[in-house]
Amino acid sequence: MKYPRTVQRYCKSCRQHTKHNVSTYKKGKERMLNQGRRRLERKKKGYGSFPKEIFHKNAKINKKTTPLLECSECGKKHYAKSYRVKRLELQEV
Ligand SMILES: [Zn+2]
Repeated sequence: MKYPRTVQRYCKSCRQHTKHNVSTYKKGKERMLNQGRRRLERKKKGYGSFPKEIFHKNAKINKKTTPLLECSECGKKHYAKSYRVKRLELQEV
C-alpha cells in the first residue's frame, strides 16, 4: 500500500489543520525490568506450567502497520488509522 510522506491533518494542540510528516510506528525496546516481565519471571520459577499459552495457529498473515504523523508546527505526534497490509510504502505525491 502507498501512503503519502506528508499529509494535511488536524492537530489538537495547534487547534487547526497543519502539515504532518509521516513515518511508520515502530515498537520501542522492551525494558527488562518492567512489571509484566518481573511477574512472568516470578511465575516461571519453580514447578508448574508456563503461565501464558504459546500461540501457534496464526490465521492472519499480515500484521497491522500504523502510520505515525508528526505535526510540523508543534512536533506533537499522532497516530493515523492503521492498516493490515503486507507493506506500507511512503511516497511523495
Ligand atoms: Zn501541532
